[in-house]
Amino acid sequence: MRKNNFLVGIAVFLFCVLLIYVGVTFYFEWTKKDGTETETDADTESERDSDPTDTQETVVYEYVGAVDEEVLMTGKDEKYLLLANKRHPLRSDYAPSQLSFLPETLVTKDEQLESRTAAALTELMKEMHACGITDTLVTSAYRSYERQCELFNRYIQTEIACVNGFSEEALACLGYSYLREQYTNKGLHTLSYEDARRVVLTYSAEPGTSEHQTGLCVDFITEDMNGHLTTVFEEKEAFDWLSENAYKFGFILRYPKGKEGITGYTYEPWHYRFVGREAATEIHLNGLTLEEYLGLENE
Ligand SMILES: [Zn+2]
Repeated sequence: MRKNNFLVGIAVFLFCVLLIYVGVTFYFEWTKKDGTETETDADTESERDSDPTDTQETVVYEYVGAVDEEVLMTGKDEKYLLLANKRHPLRSDYAPSQLSFLPETLVTKDEQLESRTAAALTELMKEMHACGITDTLVTSAYRSYERQCELFNRYIQTEIACVNGFSEEALACLGYSYLREQYTNKGLHTLSYEDARRVVLTYSAEPGTSEHQTGLCVDFITEDMNGHLTTVFEEKEAFDWLSENAYKFGFILRYPKGKEGITGYTYEPWHYRFVGREAATEIHLNGLTLEEYLGLENE
């Protein structure tokens, strides 16, 4: 009897040890799992809450030359986020509040930019030179509404005149069969105003819709391009350098490839726009357009 009691005692003891073991193991597993979940939640929460601009705080800006960061606009300023496109035209009397001439060593002819943009661009080009790229100049910067009107109308007159036959742009825009039916077969050798305007709109901005009126953008060109802005610029060293470094000075590629539906403009590897370093960094790191950055891509 005493032996039986002893055995029952052992069995109860072992059962208790087993219970405690299972209990403790379960407790630890449970707290571990709970802890992980809490951590994940915290991560998700912080990701959700974090302003995308926070990522910018971790960006380290490295420059080869002696860049004067004092003159770069490192913060964000609404003034430099001005949108000018086909859906958001500028008024005919819009002009930058202060304009500065660019140093003559950096331009193909006299060019002006909004003053802080001019200062940032000068730093950008100093750095480009420090990196060994010395064949690149600014060929176009600020353009007034009146100047854009002049250019636009001159292009229309040229297309209407068809001095050397239909232009390449007219063929691309209107099509060979349309031109043959509407003009050649009828013995006509000049385009109508409406057709000329359609053609010009494929390569020139209607007054008010050109970003050059903001004084915040430039067109770059290399010496060997003979004054012609074409996508050949994409093959230049300057283009690669700008793709990697322009944002560090507050500039973005304004009309990227594949974003024509959003910007309303064909790809222009030479056209860079100043938005300030903070906005440029965010746009660059996230592969955005200005329209997307401003949340106005559908307007
Ligand atoms: Zn341009």
